[in-house]
Amino acid sequence: MPQSKANKPNDAKSYKIIDHEFDVIVVGAGGAGLRATLGMAEQGLKTACITKVFPTRSHTVAAQGGIAASLSNMGEDNWQWHMYDTVKGSDWLGDNDAMEYLVREAPKAVYELEHYGVPFSRTEEGKIYQRPFGGHMQNFGEGPPVQRTCAAADRTGHAILHTLYGQSLRHNAEFFIEYFALDLIMSDDGVCEGIIALKLDDGTLHRFRSKMVVLATGGYGRTYFSYTSAHTCTGDGNGMVARAGLPLQDMEFVQFHPTGVYGAGVLITEGARGEGGYLTNSEGERFMERYAPNAKDLASRDVVSRCMTIEIKEGRGVGPKKDHINLHLEHLDPKVLAERLPGISESAKVFAGVDLTKDPIPVIPTAHYNMGGIPTNYHGEVLNPTKENPDKTVKGLMAVGEAGCASVHGANRLGSNSLIDLVVFGRAAAIRAGKVIDKDAPYPNANEKTTNEIISRLDRIRFADGSKSIASLRDKMQRTMQEDAAVFRTDETLQNGVERMSAIWDELKDIKLSDRSLIWNSDLVEALELENLMANALTTVVSAAARKESRGAHARDDFPDRNDKTWRKHTLANISQNGKVKLSYRPVHTKPITSEKDGGISLKKIAPKARVY
Ligand SMILES: Cc1cc2nc3c(=O)[nH]c(=O)nc-3n(C[C@H](O)[C@H](O)[C@H](O)COP(=O)(O)OP(=O)(O)OC[C@H]3O[C@@H](n4cnc5c(N)ncnc54)[C@H](O)[C@@H]3O)c2cc1C
Repeated sequence: MPQSKANKPNDAKSYKIIDHEFDVIVVGAGGAGLRATLGMAEQGLKTACITKVFPTRSHTVAAQGGIAASLSNMGEDNWQWHMYDTVKGSDWLGDNDAMEYLVREAPKAVYELEHYGVPFSRTEEGKIYQRPFGGHMQNFGEGPPVQRTCAAADRTGHAILHTLYGQSLRHNAEFFIEYFALDLIMSDDGVCEGIIALKLDDGTLHRFRSKMVVLATGGYGRTYFSYTSAHTCTGDGNGMVARAGLPLQDMEFVQFHPTGVYGAGVLITEGARGEGGYLTNSEGERFMERYAPNAKDLASRDVVSRCMTIEIKEGRGVGPKKDHINLHLEHLDPKVLAERLPGISESAKVFAGVDLTKDPIPVIPTAHYNMGGIPTNYHGEVLNPTKENPDKTVKGLMAVGEAGCASVHGANRLGSNSLIDLVVFGRAAAIRAGKVIDKDAPYPNANEKTTNEIISRLDRIRFADGSKSIASLRDKMQRTMQEDAAVFRTDETLQNGVERMSAIWDELKDIKLSDRSLIWNSDLVEALELENLMANALTTVVSAAARKESRGAHARDDFPDRNDKTWRKHTLANISQNGKVKLSYRPVHTKPITSEKDGGISLKKIAPKARVY
């Protein structure tokens, strides 16, 4: 190993590599990674889970509101209604086969969680408690709101994550904690053969050779200035896929959550409005009644975020700068608040200084979720579409959770549909892996050339000696994305964004690291994360500039309507080493898995129409 105080670049050979062999490597220990890990290990596959933070510190731990499944515990519900809402929520960009798979497997996946030990809140009869959530309705969208979101108070993600971690350990999955995955090892003919990771506490390099790699690395919220996600949400898996020459899908669709705490970005769950909370402007008006007469404050997130932004733009924001909105919960029974929303009572106090039993919480739309990511089919297998075969898979590679794009959320995700996505597709990936992995086959050899390239890249970054600090470049990227690619977009802002982001990409060549060591080198980790973030940010803004319509979270002032004829298709973005983004498109899967005559949903029901709430 090179000395920790080394200050000259090394060649790849001077790094010592420790080898490992597994049937499956899961990168990420959030809800998706842990559910996949557990499913793989349960079947006796030799499974390793690699994670840069301790499993229960993954962002899933922060999920508050709940997990959607049509259990009908608190009123009538069925999978067709859930499917309709998801299709409509996606603004007709989701893949219908994947969405059918999601909603039909959802109840099974939730009962499994229950049996694994997730401590759900209960109804009086002891059933899993379910609350209303935005965009989830009865009667194929006609309403009223349905109680579909299963919750463990307002700590649902916390409960799920802890349970899945315990269960994974029980099935002897091996954990490599505080290992930072650098890149995929790809063979010359495009098969994924494993990954290389840096062990953060001692700087050793680890080569994991495996028959399957599952990327479950989460979203890339940190590309924006104001975001609800953890600092670790840096889109690393997406970055690895982009560097492997594979496309990222639908990156232009970034969800802004209506209720981030003003100034702090911390989330107030949609469950708050589910329990009866509502928004007002500076005139004290419940303005959502005007925009969405049926669903009101429980309209879909993109809709509520846009309405709030319009209110602020038109001068009806609250506060001295008239730049935010009030969220009221003070009219609710304090007992309900204490029981159902204890966590946000605390967040409101800590981050806004508000006692929510007495005063409204100041809120503002905040970057929250990435609908786009690594394209997959509904088995979790990663796609590398060609003209001849838009559903061509990449051997040895899967992606699940927020990093993946199956695509069940299309242009906009409904609240509580992500946690269910994590467990349904984490589980689906395990089921598929069980079928395609031959336990007796030898482990792949791991391409020497790619291995050397990965190490050279690490070495180049570690010894970077330019003039720009990582923090200053990251700040520039975040401000650019916030200004040019947020809730409302126009050709002008997006072109400006493309130019500014491309210039920042070029500045990556000029970074400077001050710490050359390999022991807990946070400067190095942040540089690696910045390169990943930049691949996400640039593909997001370029994809957005090209899409000349408004759909879901992608709202353009200059193209206010959805245009199904030209734009009902998935964007694919490939990025080259010099930061040039090449776009291509892939058809949406309009066919569900089950035909209508075999009991599937009526195609007429899910045909595109105007999206009103
Ligand atoms: C505040 C908040 C509240 C939310 N509430 C809800 C809700 O109520 N209901 C709902 O459905 N959705 C909710 N969401 C969305 C949902 O929680 C997320 O989409 C989901 O948790 C993402 O899970 P994941 O498993 O894909 O990734 P994460 O939970 O983000 O985990 C990513 C994992 O990847 C690992 N990792 C990343 N990069 C590397 C690397 N380079 N090397 C090694 N390991 C790596 C990390 O260590 C981590 O273990 C919420 C999101 C936020 C931010």
